Amino acid sequence: MHAFHRLYQQRKSISTKAYKSRGWKVKRCDFCRLAEQYCICQLRKQSNSRCSFLLLMSDDEVLKPSNTGRLIADIIPDTHAFIWHRTEVDEKLLSVIEDDKYQPFLVFPSEYAGERPRVFKQQPDVIDHNKIPLFILIDATWRQAKRIFRKSEYLAQLPIVSIESVITESVLAESAIECANPVNNSAEQVNTEQVNEKQHATVLNYDSKYQLRKAEKPGQLGTAEVAAKVLQLFGENESAKLLDLWFDVFSFRYQQAVKQTNKANPRAVENYQQYVSERKLK
Ligand SMILES: [Zn+2]
Repeated sequence: MHAFHRLYQQRKSISTKAYKSRGWKVKRCDFCRLAEQYCICQLRKQSNSRCSFLLLMSDDEVLKPSNTGRLIADIIPDTHAFIWHRTEVDEKLLSVIEDDKYQPFLVFPSEYAGERPRVFKQQPDVIDHNKIPLFILIDATWRQAKRIFRKSEYLAQLPIVSIESVITESVLAESAIECANPVNNSAEQVNTEQVNEKQHATVLNYDSKYQLRKAEKPGQLGTAEVAAKVLQLFGENESAKLLDLWFDVFSFRYQQAVKQTNKANPRAVENYQQYVSERKLK
């Protein structure tokens, strides 16, 4: 059980009403939150990253099966998870941010960072190599994220690492199709070659492969994708790759369960397992 699992159990226990969005009747694994027959828990491996993450989650995000922030906790051993509250600040959350062993960075798009003095689009020049980088990710809808950013004084002084997404026409076209046709139950044949080609292209750009929700803005990345980019920026290519491949596994199995046209990489599980065995990860 990791930090997200504990947070989920705690949130679920105080839930007064059942979570009733699409697919709520599905019997899900309590850990990966996928439909039981698509559970990926047995496949999970941890990286040996020396970075740390802190997920600052909106209350409802914790309960959403499509959440990808928790994939970070699956892969990165030192991951913390908290629910954001408007009126009270969790002392434990503050103690992590203030812990002397960490150097905290807030991950947030620079275009919304306003007049903040320390915003980095590349690896920051203020890295303290004696400390563990702690990346704080706001895991919420875009609207909620902006509110959390504005209303949390304890985030105000932190240097910001900004992951810019590249907006391409294909992403725009794809989100337009998504909007027009959110659920497609037709038994469409997946052309493996085409998908692989597309997946290859998206690795090179900062395009999102996050097909589980409608993008709130073009080119928007899922939380786990953002984390992979941050790891890459800090030179942790192996952990970035593992998280990226794990994201693909989750994305593929999630889409299998909801029976919409599966846009994820059909070779996701194979690719992930191959990488894990090559790197001899435990
Ligand atoms: Zn599971």
